[in-house]
Amino acid sequence: MQYDNFINGKWVPGEYQANVNPSETTDVIGYYAQATSSDTDRAIQAACNAKHEWGETLAQNRSEVLTHIGEEILKQKNQLGKCIAREEGKLVTEGVGEAERAGRTFLYYAHQLQQATGEMFLSSRERTSIHTVRKPVGTVGIITPWNFPLAIPAWKIAPALAFGNTVVFKPATLVPASAWNLAKIISETNLPHGAFNLVMGSGRAVGDRISKSKSIDAVSFTGSGETGKQIIQDCINIGNKKVQTEMGGKNSLVILDDADIPTAVEAVIDGAYYSAGQRCTATSRVIVTKGIIEEVKTCLVNRIAELTVGHALDSTADLGPLASENQLSNVLEYVKIGVNEGAEILSGGAAFDASTPGFFMQPTLFTGGRSDMRINQEEIFGPVACLIEVDGIDEAIETANDTDYGLCAGIISESPQSVNKFLREVDAGMLHVNRSTALTELNVPFGGTKSSTFGPHEQGAAAREFYTTSSTVYTTTTS
Ligand code: NAD
Repeated sequence: MQYDNFINGKWVPGEYQANVNPSETTDVIGYYAQATSSDTDRAIQAACNAKHEWGETLAQNRSEVLTHIGEEILKQKNQLGKCIAREEGKLVTEGVGEAERAGRTFLYYAHQLQQATGEMFLSSRERTSIHTVRKPVGTVGIITPWNFPLAIPAWKIAPALAFGNTVVFKPATLVPASAWNLAKIISETNLPHGAFNLVMGSGRAVGDRISKSKSIDAVSFTGSGETGKQIIQDCINIGNKKVQTEMGGKNSLVILDDADIPTAVEAVIDGAYYSAGQRCTATSRVIVTKGIIEEVKTCLVNRIAELTVGHALDSTADLGPLASENQLSNVLEYVKIGVNEGAEILSGGAAFDASTPGFFMQPTLFTGGRSDMRINQEEIFGPVACLIEVDGIDEAIETANDTDYGLCAGIISESPQSVNKFLREVDAGMLHVNRSTALTELNVPFGGTKSSTFGPHEQGAAAREFYTTSSTVYTTTTS
């Protein structure tokens, strides 16, 4: 079946590209229209034309549109979750969880619209008051990666629409089906024509057009650091267009001698291996103090041996395949690099053939790692973690900070002093104590430091900062 782009309130055909299931490459999910540069220009123009009407729509009415979208996503969460599993390769249970999160995100922003906005200030002048008002930014370009095909679009599109902006949405080429399903639900609301547009297609033809367009007022991007840096540059060159980029992570989990070992092991298993390690919040550097490293190694190797890698729709699997052939070969290349750098493979390290043709890889654990190795500095984005031995808390913190990234970090320890020191000194946007680095919630800010993030954080109340502009109003009464 063929699926079209959604531009100015109409479904628009194009050249179609097959969307293939990474658990079973003979399963074609559908054929998705590839937008051209001129389709993208039409979508941008439509979003510009609609921005006054949608920006002026009463908050109550905008809230009702978001509520409808959120409730519809929740009603369809099982089908949407299955579709995520089929096109991205995460387990169907994770897919359903992602769909649920996407639905709840729309409901959260529907509710946010009922909260007070703006602030009042005292003035140093007589008969004068000062307050701030929040206004929509205008037309927002939204560019998303493949690893959360529904949740990441939702956490950008929901606040964009809630705060009165119009949207041009470009999903990753690997996962058009989830984006199309979301667009279908949005198309069935009474949004003005052009307020929401879906343009599926390549980064070059569509994404680049959005980030370089003078008619787009702001760009929200999640993806790799390389693309993110290009987009930041494009937005600055075009006249300091507002831009927010969430880029990669190289996240550390510190395990101290006083850690509860079962908690530590489960935090590594969840953080490093679930979703096949394809989360920007995944644990990659496991920094362990020397008193317990041998015990941690043994427990992890035993626990990894219990994990089943399989088809994303197989309810007995613990993790699915990698999302594409390219992804699999990149991750395998990093395994080779690790071995050449002198790290030792404790578990896994190879791809394997399952009962269906797909991109399956064993969960992989390295030991003997040093912080400066490429496998401990560059984002691998697969089911690979590396143990790094340290002497104590000071060296653990220094090692955790020894990366260009700053998305998240975690500590497993029973010592309040060590935990407090870690929370004070580790430079990352999200910090976890006695839990996996990968678990985040939708009602709180999401974002990193250093090379991981540029611009305001996302989600929770933080999203208002990016999706609105603030004006300060001075009023003096004349009598
Ligand atoms: P990517 O950078 O290759 O692509 C992301 C999006 O940008 C896609 O839609 C792509 O088509 C588009 N794009 C590519 N070139 C472009 C260009 N020149 N101009 C405009 N758009 C362009 O990333 P990916 O491979 O889809 O996703 C994986 C990356 O995403 C990883 O690095 C991961 O860490 C990161 N990620 C970060 C977060 C976070 O919140 N920090 C969340 C999820 C994923």
